Amino acid sequence: MDCDVLIVGAGPAGCAAGATSAKRGVKTLVIDRKKEIGTPVQCGEVVSTSLLRQSGLRLPPGTICYRQDFTRFVLDRKWTLDNRSPYWKGVTVERKMFDKFLAEEAARLGAGVQADTCLIDLERDGDQVLSAKLRMRGREVVIEPKVIVAADGVHSTVGKLLGRNGFDRTDLATGVEFEMVSKRKLPPCMQIFIEPEIGLGYGWVIPKGDRRANVGFGQVGKRLSRRDALLDWIVQHPIISSYFDDRCILEVKTGDAPVPDFEGGPYKGNVLFAGDAAGQTLAFVGEGIMPAYLCGGCAGNAAADAVINGIEALGGYDAAVRGLVGAEMSLGSDLRDALVLIWTIEGLTGHQRALISGLVMNQVLGEGDMALFDDIPEDGDLWKLVKQRIKAQGQSIRLSKVK
Ligand SMILES: Cc1cc2nc3c(=O)[nH]c(=O)nc-3n(C[C@H](O)[C@H](O)[C@H](O)COP(=O)(O)OP(=O)(O)OC[C@H]3O[C@@H](n4cnc5c(N)ncnc54)[C@H](O)[C@@H]3O)c2cc1C
Repeated sequence: MDCDVLIVGAGPAGCAAGATSAKRGVKTLVIDRKKEIGTPVQCGEVVSTSLLRQSGLRLPPGTICYRQDFTRFVLDRKWTLDNRSPYWKGVTVERKMFDKFLAEEAARLGAGVQADTCLIDLERDGDQVLSAKLRMRGREVVIEPKVIVAADGVHSTVGKLLGRNGFDRTDLATGVEFEMVSKRKLPPCMQIFIEPEIGLGYGWVIPKGDRRANVGFGQVGKRLSRRDALLDWIVQHPIISSYFDDRCILEVKTGDAPVPDFEGGPYKGNVLFAGDAAGQTLAFVGEGIMPAYLCGGCAGNAAADAVINGIEALGGYDAAVRGLVGAEMSLGSDLRDALVLIWTIEGLTGHQRALISGLVMNQVLGEGDMALFDDIPEDGDLWKLVKQRIKAQGQSIRLSKVK
C-alpha cells in the first residue's frame, strides 16, 4: 500500500501521471474516490485528432465511437461555418472506457490503482506534505508518499487542503448535457451553437453514432441547475428539435470545466497539480481531456525525477508543460479573453456577438481585431470584413446560410 508517488484522481491527468511515474521504476499509487473509474461521466467526450496524435496514445477498439472530419458552427441559428482545419477534426470517445483503459495502462506499467479510495486529509509541515489519510473502501489508511500529484479535478480536494484558492466563478464554465437518440441521421460532424440564447458559452451536438449524440450547453460564470433550461433549449431550437425531443434521454451529465488563464505546471512544496486541478484546459472551448493527459505525463515524470534525484527536480515540471503545450494553451487563453470581451462590451447586437464569437473561435478574427469593435459596426460593414477574412482562409472554412 505504501508508495513514493501518490496520485490523487484517476482521470486522464492522474492515469497519465501514474503510467509515466511507474514506467520510471518509482513506486506509484493512483487512487480515485469513484467506485468505478470513469463513471459517472461529466464530459462531451470529444477529443481533437491533432492533440490525440501528439499524445501518441493508441486507443483500443471500443474507446472511440465516432470520427468527425470537420466541425460545424451554427451562428445565431442563421449561418453555418464548416471548419476542416486539423484542430477541428475530432473523435468521440466513450469516456467510461477511455478512462478505464488509461488506468489499466498505468497498472500494466507497474502503478497500483485503487478505486473507491478517497483522499480525506493531509498532514503538513509548512508546504511539505508528510502523510496522507485515505478512506479506502470503508477503512482509514495513512501513507507517507515523497511526492503527491493532485489530479483530482476542477474542485481539487488537495488544493483545498493546502489552502489553494479554487477557481473564480468567472473562470468556470458550467455544463449540462444529455446523451440522446436522434429521430434521424445526424450530420457527420460536431456542431457548435453560438447564439444570444446561450450568451458567453456555447451549445453542442457531439455525435456518438449515426443517431446518438451528446447534446448540451456550457455557460461561463453561471451557477444554476440547468437541466430544465437544457430541455427547453433543445425542444424550442429550430435545428436541434428536428433531431431530438424529450422522449429519449440515455444519460444526464453535468459538471464544471475550468477556463482560467494558463498557469503552466504549478506546484507547492512536494505537491504537483495536473489537469483540471491546475486549470490546464484550452480555455476558449474548455477542452481538457488531452491537455490533462499530456500535462499529467509531465507531472508523473517530474514526480519520478524528484524521487530519484531530489525534490528540487519538481522545478522542471513547469518548463516541461510549457514546452509541450504552452503555445496552444496560451492561445486558448487569449481567445477566451476575446470572447469575454465580445459578450461584455456594450452596443453590439446579440446577432453581432454570436457572429463575431464564431469568427474568433475559428481564428478568422483574433484578439488584435477587437479594437475594430470600439466603434460598433454596421451589419453591412461587418459582413464585408467577414467575407474578406473567410476568403483569405482558403478551402478549410465554408460559410453558408442555414437552409
Ligand atoms: C459538461 C462538460 C463537458 C466537457 N466536454 C469535454 C469534451 O468534450 N472534450 C474535452 O476534451 N473536455 C471536456 N470537458 C473537460 C474534461 O472533462 C476535463 O478537462 C478532463 O476530464 C480533465 O481531466 P482530469 O484528469 O484533470 O480530471 P477528471 O477527469 O475530473 O478526474 C479527476 C478525478 O479525481 C477524482 N477525485 C476527486 N477528488 C478526489 C479525492 N479526494 N480522492 C480521490 N479521488 C478524487 C475524481 O473522482 C475524478 O475521477 C468537459 C467538462 C464538462 C464539465
